[in-house]
Amino acid sequence: MLTVRSRKIPFSKPAFRGHELTYLRQVLESGEIKGGGRFSHACEALLESSLQVPKALLTTSCSTALDLAALLLDIVPGDEVIMPSFTFPATANAFVLRGARPVFVDLRPDTLNMDTDIIEPLITPRTRAIAAVHYGGVACDMDALNATIERHGIDLIEDNAHGPFCRYKGRNLGTFGRMGTLSFHETKNYTTGEGGALLINDPGLIERAIIMRDKGTNRDQFQRGIVPFYHWVDAGSNFAPAEAIAAILLAQLEQREEIQACRRSIWEYYHLNLSDWAAAHGTVMQFVAPHCEQSYHVFYMLLPSKAGRNALLSHLDEHGVNATFHYSPLHLAPMGARYGYLPGQLPVTEMVNERILRLPFYNSLSRDEQDYIIETIRGFCFS
Ligand SMILES: *Cc1c(COP(=O)(O)O)cnc(C)c1O
Repeated sequence: MLTVRSRKIPFSKPAFRGHELTYLRQVLESGEIKGGGRFSHACEALLESSLQVPKALLTTSCSTALDLAALLLDIVPGDEVIMPSFTFPATANAFVLRGARPVFVDLRPDTLNMDTDIIEPLITPRTRAIAAVHYGGVACDMDALNATIERHGIDLIEDNAHGPFCRYKGRNLGTFGRMGTLSFHETKNYTTGEGGALLINDPGLIERAIIMRDKGTNRDQFQRGIVPFYHWVDAGSNFAPAEAIAAILLAQLEQREEIQACRRSIWEYYHLNLSDWAAAHGTVMQFVAPHCEQSYHVFYMLLPSKAGRNALLSHLDEHGVNATFHYSPLHLAPMGARYGYLPGQLPVTEMVNERILRLPFYNSLSRDEQDYIIETIRGFCFS
């Protein structure tokens, strides 16, 4: 039998299962520890071939990949960028740092993605781009988004922090927009602690992206023998990670099928064993349309009320299970208020914020731990 007090199940835990240490040792022993070496190139080549993307550039995080995307779009003060409020501040920061105004759009309650039916009225002559987030690696309605950006001649950037190797109608997420971004943060499916990548689908942006990532210099052209010297040729910064990060990442990416299979089995076990409980308690589980291949990044449920959600969170906590809610909506944050947003403006986002509960989810979560979490939920009584 399971004992209650001895249990301590964290929400998230990084897992290493491949050649991380072997590759790290190779980097350290080679002495070539700055960025842009063998492991960085191997990661970028792997991402390009497996995702079918013209160019992948490793960055120090998804946040800096978004910063680089905003620089490449030449976002200027006064521009507007449409995005969900239910996301990490990084989605907004990249554009806000260039002086743009974030325009928040509400969610669909079934996928927690942007509601594409209500985007059109938000588009103005100042709208430059839509920054889409594929929540939990489940795609936004890409047919609708594509139609909208084409009709208005604006850009699409995909913040695909949750969904590397996920697909919409067979096509990889991150390859629909002009650019897409990935995160390899500690809490994501593939992790290097901090890390990210910029996926570039518009070949016309590649050369400039490489320059901007490399402190605004054309050093890459110099190294390829195209120019005799390298200079400061554009505005830029240092967005590339060190080789040690790329070494960890390569080991993880090489194991992507095993990692994905492991997460899928965890997700399906929760789903199978909680469906009847959820239905009996007015609780809605994650919806994944058949044409979406997801990343199994999160397992969430929408409880019938905020009080019920909070009571279940406390119940799980008392039993040593660290479940949690998710993003604090950007429009309700102090920065959102600075842009004039008020509570009540995005009702679905606010409902989700009050009712979402995410269960512990990490690659090494055992069946025994999952059984304990499921039993603990089943033992909870709504008052
Ligand atoms: C985690 C996350 C980010 C930030 O990723 P970092 O790699 O930590 O910068 C951005 N957007 C979304 C949707 C995220 O979940």
